[in-house]
Amino acid sequence: YYRRSWSSESSDSVISSESGNSYYRVVLIGEQGVGKSSLANIFAGVHDSMDSDCDVLGEDMYERTLMVDGESATVILLDMWENKRESEWIQDHCMQVGDAYLIVYSITDRASFEKASELRIQLRTARQTEDIPIILVGNKSDLVRCREVSVAEGRACAVVFDCKFIETSAAVQHNVKELFEGIVRQVRLRRDSKEK
Ligand code: GDP
Ligand code: MG
Repeated sequence: YYRRSWSSESSDSVISSESGNSYYRVVLIGEQGVGKSSLANIFAGVHDSMDSDCDVLGEDMYERTLMVDGESATVILLDMWENKRESEWIQDHCMQVGDAYLIVYSITDRASFEKASELRIQLRTARQTEDIPIILVGNKSDLVRCREVSVAEGRACAVVFDCKFIETSAAVQHNVKELFEGIVRQVRLRRDSKEK
């Protein structure tokens, strides 16, 4: 199913299997060094705190089935935003293939926060007609003394972006499970409202 879903270009690309399980492609984007791969590693269960197994589909792709609100969902997480080779092509591709996005910045790096706004605009341009679920993620919340972006600023930015907001720490694994559950909920909310 994976290759099939990868090549799907329709906006209704969330695939449902016969068992009723749904597959969601979630893409990590954001400046280098903000903690995308660290979040992906937690998702992949390198330090296992979640309750199911993970398949590593490639260097920068992970698949895991999560139970969220009593319903299972398989998340395919893509962490290829900064692939050095063919980076531009990959970034264009990333902008097209996600069912949902995690736009990550570091609370210790204001430039990465500003970059997040740029990425939001880029995403909106790339996927104009779609209401894509996005979570703005302020990572490194454990580094309290180095904070450059306040919680209030992050929250306000998410309001402007019309997306959800969460602060996480990959280092101490704070809110990481909530982040991945949250993105599943966001995709479902849109799916459910489409069905009505
Ligand atoms: P990426 O470039 O966005 O994939 O970022 P990485 O996951 O490679 O992380 C960059 C650096 O930040 C690494 O040294 C990580 O150990 C560190 N890092 C990532 N997340 C956190 C976090 O939540 N807290 C702290 N203190 N460091 C983090
Ligand atoms: Mg990385």
